[in-house]
Amino acid sequence: MSSLQCTSCGAPVEIVNRFSKVIVCNYCGTHLKVKENSLDEMGRYPKLADYPSIFRVGSKGTILGRPFRALGRMRYKSQGWHYDEWFIDYDGDSAWFCEDDGTYTIYFDMFEAVEVPDVNSLKAGQNIEIGDKRVMVKEIGTAKIESGEGELLYYLEPGTEVTFIDGVAEGKKVSIEYSENEVEVFTGRPLLRRDIAIEE
Ligand SMILES: [Zn+2]
Repeated sequence: MSSLQCTSCGAPVEIVNRFSKVIVCNYCGTHLKVKENSLDEMGRYPKLADYPSIFRVGSKGTILGRPFRALGRMRYKSQGWHYDEWFIDYDGDSAWFCEDDGTYTIYFDMFEAVEVPDVNSLKAGQNIEIGDKRVMVKEIGTAKIESGEGELLYYLEPGTEVTFIDGVAEGKKVSIEYSENEVEVFTGRPLLRRDIAIEE
């Protein structure tokens, strides 16, 4: 854990996870790139509108009996909907937590680097091979990054367009996210509200 100052407004900035790439200043909204012992200004964006969520930055508790801490979130939006991805520290590992219309899923990085088919060649209902898994494509969509708050392990600039695939492999949810430079593959486990206990 280290303490630095926002280069724009001077507010203290605390970094909990040493793998965080970007931290959003809680006071002025500046996005700061995390370097070894310093922060680099990337731009200032409006704060996220406070839509209801069971988490806020700093929330702690347990998920399936193991401790977590919510560190930050990225918000995606498209026509008529938005979607928050929470970055959490989960018992020492990194994980993502998503809330969608009262359903909850915890996601883990599936592969470090993997060959993924070109999204333009895919359609819903198709089976694709990713690593050693056969994934059934359920939905393909696009969204834009609105912005983020808190500490972010994974970062895309606001306005970046992403294409995502929701799929299923061996009974588990699979989420694939394509942006200009990166493809991320996550595997998800659905949760019930009672699997999640929030202490503060
Ligand atoms: Zn600031």
